Amino acid sequence: MSNVKNPPAWLGVMGGGQLGRMFAHAAQSMGYNVAVLEPAADCPAGQAANRLINAGYSDAPGLDALAAQCVAVTTEFENVPADSLSRLAQSVFVAPNAHGVSVAQDRIAEKSFFVASAAKSGVMPAPHKVIDSDAAIDAIGDELLPGILKTVRMGYDGKGQVRVKSREDVRAAYESMGKVTCLLEKMLPLAYEVSVLTARGADGASVVYPIAENVHRDGILFTTTVPGPNITADCAAKAQRAAQAIVAELGYVGVLCIEFFVLADGSLVVNEMAPRPHNSGHYTIDACVTSQFAQQVRAMAGLPLGDVRQHSPAVMLNILGDIWYEGEGDDVREPAWDKVLALPGANLHLYGKEEPRRARKMGHLTFVAPTLAEAQQHLNAACAILGIAA
Ligand code: ATP
Ligand code: MG
Repeated sequence: MSNVKNPPAWLGVMGGGQLGRMFAHAAQSMGYNVAVLEPAADCPAGQAANRLINAGYSDAPGLDALAAQCVAVTTEFENVPADSLSRLAQSVFVAPNAHGVSVAQDRIAEKSFFVASAAKSGVMPAPHKVIDSDAAIDAIGDELLPGILKTVRMGYDGKGQVRVKSREDVRAAYESMGKVTCLLEKMLPLAYEVSVLTARGADGASVVYPIAENVHRDGILFTTTVPGPNITADCAAKAQRAAQAIVAELGYVGVLCIEFFVLADGSLVVNEMAPRPHNSGHYTIDACVTSQFAQQVRAMAGLPLGDVRQHSPAVMLNILGDIWYEGEGDDVREPAWDKVLALPGANLHLYGKEEPRRARKMGHLTFVAPTLAEAQQHLNAACAILGIAA
């Protein structure tokens, strides 16, 4: 029996955000139909999908409707209830499965998994300790300070994190977070940050994209540059091998993005993983033979994984809602897209979000060029037009 699911079958997505929207575009261009399950009536993925099932992520009738319509279901956000994926898996192929997603959702499970797979991956996470009581705080060793206290669940874009210098800081931060279980991580001297996008098929074949270098601002991804300008060939090979070992150890099917730190001494530390296409992989739409979204379609439909070759150097800039506002005021104006799109190699992606809230991801811009220097130069020009400090 073949596991290939050919178009025009229906592919399902849990979640209605921009990742689901770009997944829908990729799937539809290959001839698939897309159903999205999302409680919000107007959402980026719902605008693009062939069908929007307006239901909560744990709503049984909604989940059953999605399973009945689709030949395979994926997720576009990390915090999808693992129980919902398990329910779907009773009647439809689900990739990634509940196991992979639940490990990535929980920083304790994630760190334990990284430690357990270190013999195969060759990389370790930052030194860390679970903080779930006052006694655990008393027992913090000096080697973990200064550190970062992170909530175990639901953290993203730097939310749910507090930098701490002392046990007293940890105690105050733990209390300010309502004493939910946290993880204390040692603060490491980062030289820069990279992410490695990988995908694995149900047959166990896997692919890995070039190393992407990420710059964050205020905890939110600001730019992604590929190929990463700072990484050595040696370190890049090590990160790619680690990513493929991790995806295999997890028995994962689909696109997985793994974030790494490169320390001042050149060593590699694994930080966290996202069980889905990732913001730092958006450049693949314009710069690679197979985008991360087309790759997700292939993995879940039982098709051969696509060529990950990057045909153009690329720099991606996240577009946040801030640029719709001048200064601190409330007046909304449309950014000068005509000027931005006059720049060579500009590719604009907006997500169809009606309200441009500050710090909200509204879209992204990817510049491709024959050289990284040119792509960077055009991106700097775009920043100047959009009023973003480059
Ligand atoms: P996102 O979901 O946006 O990737 P997050 O909220 O899940 O982020 P992390 O990726 O763990 O959180 O951390 C956010 C940023 O904080 C990292 O990209 C890095 O810049 C910094 N950071 C996190 N952990 C450490 C550490 N142990 N040492 C130094 N810096 C760190
Ligand atoms: Mg992160």
